[in-house]
Amino acid sequence: MTAELIYGKELAATIRKELKQEAAALKEQDILPHLTVVLVGDDPASRSYVKGKEKASAEIGISSELIELPSSTTQTELLDLIQRLNLDKAVNGILVQLPLPSHIDEQAVINSINPEKDVDGFHPANVGKMMLGEDTYYPCTPYGIIQMLKSKNVEIAGKTAVIVGRSNIVGKPIGQLLLNEHATVIHTHSRTPDLRSFTKQADILVVAVGREQMIKADDIKDGAIVIDVGVNRNAEGKLTGDVDFEHAKEVASIITPVPGGVGPMTITMLMLNTIKAARRQAAAV
Ligand code: NDP
Repeated sequence: MTAELIYGKELAATIRKELKQEAAALKEQDILPHLTVVLVGDDPASRSYVKGKEKASAEIGISSELIELPSSTTQTELLDLIQRLNLDKAVNGILVQLPLPSHIDEQAVINSINPEKDVDGFHPANVGKMMLGEDTYYPCTPYGIIQMLKSKNVEIAGKTAVIVGRSNIVGKPIGQLLLNEHATVIHTHSRTPDLRSFTKQADILVVAVGREQMIKADDIKDGAIVIDVGVNRNAEGKLTGDVDFEHAKEVASIITPVPGGVGPMTITMLMLNTIKAARRQAAAV
């Protein structure tokens, strides 16, 4: 058996088409969705992510602005800028590209963003709403994964979902969203002994670690759905995930490739959140 692939790239293109129509409809009501991205320092990976966000915004019809600050920016200066953006009615979404330079407290910065403009879905108020099962801005990568599963009509309710990795941006929130969809969720991490005994139970296995080839075919239950979030560069300089894709696809029923899997969905969900923010803020006036 060879697994069916979920090409996030194709699904992202379909969703972006719908978002473009929604942005055009909002424009007819004089609502112009606007995203402000703040980049502190000159990390090349961050710069490339930010470029992707600008490109997607332009494609959909979201106005976007990039504010670039030097790595010497103080926390107070950054908090002042966010305060200004919070008050600016023309700004619907604020995204501070992470990671920030080590002298800045990331959580303090996230906490300072108006939750209504927190299109990354990282503010504690939005994390709390997600936990309560309320409608809010969900973190983009996990939300994208849910859309991918739904695009294949995967029945999540009642399934055992095992998450490898417990970061605030991927591992924890994907577990919560799957729980909200009535999966039985097991979180695993670097302190989990005998990881395989858990991954082998997974009907849905989500791997978000950042270690090439860490999940082998033997770690996967026959017929499982495998979502590979990892992004690594192998010895030949090629992008790879955390899963041994070539062998895993012979065991899994559905699997996501890297590249072209989860990655393209992340930015698309950011676009979706930004349009949602523009609609919600216009309705609140
Ligand atoms: P973090 O580094 O924040 O978290 C990694 C997690 O992996 C931690 O919870 C850590 O556990 C766990 N871990 C480390 N080693 C092991 C191990 N041996 N066994 C089990 N768990 C382990 O990473 P992120 O969550 O931010 O990202 C994970 C990967 O996903 C990265 O490759 C990143 O590039 C990629 N990514 C891709 C995105 C996309 O859009 N495609 C978006 C975001 C991330 P502990 O907490 O105990 O340290």
